[in-house]
Amino acid sequence: MSTPNHKIRLVMELRAAGVADVGVLAAIERVPREAFVPPTFRDRAYEDAALPIGHAQTLSRPSVVGLMSQALEASPRMKVLEIGTGSGYQTCVLARMVRRVYTIERHRELMVQAEERFKALRIHNVVTKFGDGWAGWHEQAPFERIIVTAAPADIPGALVDQLAEGGVMVLPVGREKRTQALVRVRKLDGRTTIEELDAVRFVPMVAGLPN
Ligand code: SAH
Repeated sequence: MSTPNHKIRLVMELRAAGVADVGVLAAIERVPREAFVPPTFRDRAYEDAALPIGHAQTLSRPSVVGLMSQALEASPRMKVLEIGTGSGYQTCVLARMVRRVYTIERHRELMVQAEERFKALRIHNVVTKFGDGWAGWHEQAPFERIIVTAAPADIPGALVDQLAEGGVMVLPVGREKRTQALVRVRKLDGRTTIEELDAVRFVPMVAGLPN
């Protein structure tokens, strides 16, 4: 349930986990996480836990959403690409922080449910696309920021190409069931630099679309 106490406790947990950016904390406070989880898990919506969203996919724990959003170093005028809409929770947190979020999901049903949530929450600065995130979103590139919420084994080249000069991309990299690293890629003067931030565990970034 969404009571002020639940939210205050969550924000304290996020701070303890290293989320200090006030813009990120404010965005998380403004997004009702219970609207993104199946009814049976609603009473756990404000725990710092990953929760199932169907199709063997999970909604990341709030501290991971917070740390990734913070690592992105986003500001209000930016255009952001997200791969892996899932429930749409991370999308909404970003939508509260930046100008526009372009988000791609390969499961049509998850995409449709996420779109319904954006509408119900009156979030109008999100553009969705059903498709394979490995290819990025060529027509809308370049992006000042890119966030990937499923783990590829290697950094997808198309996404690096679609990152703007001065841009930042945050993504988990590594094979399933192994420790993955949260990685930050920066593109500066045409060169890319890669920095490892944390150990994380995400569902794999899958190639192609489900049948
Ligand atoms: N950020 C989401 C959770 C993501 S779970 C949230 O806040 O709820 C990872 C998501 O990535 C899943 O929905 C999965 O279907 C999607 N995904 C995996 N591989 C993908 C690909 N190649 N293209 C687009 N989406 C992908």
